[in-house]
Amino acid sequence: MYLLTDSCLVSLLADIPVSCRCGEKPKPTKKRVGSAVTVNWICDCGKTVKSLASQLALRYGSFLGNFMLMASTILSGNNYQKVALLAKFINLGLPHRTTFQKIQGYFVAPTVEQYWSNIQASAIEETRATNVVISATKGSFPREGTSGQCTQ
Ligand SMILES: [Zn+2]
Repeated sequence: MYLLTDSCLVSLLADIPVSCRCGEKPKPTKKRVGSAVTVNWICDCGKTVKSLASQLALRYGSFLGNFMLMASTILSGNNYQKVALLAKFINLGLPHRTTFQKIQGYFVAPTVEQYWSNIQASAIEETRATNVVISATKGSFPREGTSGQCTQ
């Protein structure tokens, strides 16, 4: 993952030779999509000659970096407001809060819950193989070797 300033991006784009079959040389058009940027070279004849994106595209028009940023916000113990403030300070694009909430609801929370369930199941399975002592003494702790029942 990288941070790239606009001036460096413009410099990189200037080095990409792009020309249309009609003979024109279209200029790049940038569009910010959260923390990603897409670049399209659209010719005056209407043809999109070349397209680039700064991040791997996922389904439904989302980008991997945006997804990772939103998922990592909660997983690192932060919240959207804090990360949004950080992004504002460095003029970093950020997906909208509703996108953050959708990613949390559809992907992060179910994954964390499944992970937690797996840990619980594993702990229960480990405990199942251990002998457990249950005290039959009411109101006091059993002394060693006195009361108790062994169960599985
Ligand atoms: Zn053209």
